Amino acid sequence: MKLTVDFDRCMGHGRCYAVAPDLLTYDEEGFVTIRGQTIDVPDDQLEAAREAVESCPEQAPALIE
Ligand code: SF4
Repeated sequence: MKLTVDFDRCMGHGRCYAVAPDLLTYDEEGFVTIRGQTIDVPDDQLEAAREAVESCPEQAPALIE
């Protein structure tokens, strides 16, 4: 499973990395560092990734099979 974050949708609300601190982190402006990128999600971080997707008010992150 992969996690992607749409660059243009991400507004830096910070909810995704708050609910998935072992998977995501943030830059100096408060944007998730994988903004505009796609990463592999380790199996033990799948639930955190799902929570990150659900937490974002901009629907920026998405899981990809
Ligand atoms: S992906 Fe969503 S919750 Fe995460 S920093 Fe961007 S806007 Fe905020």
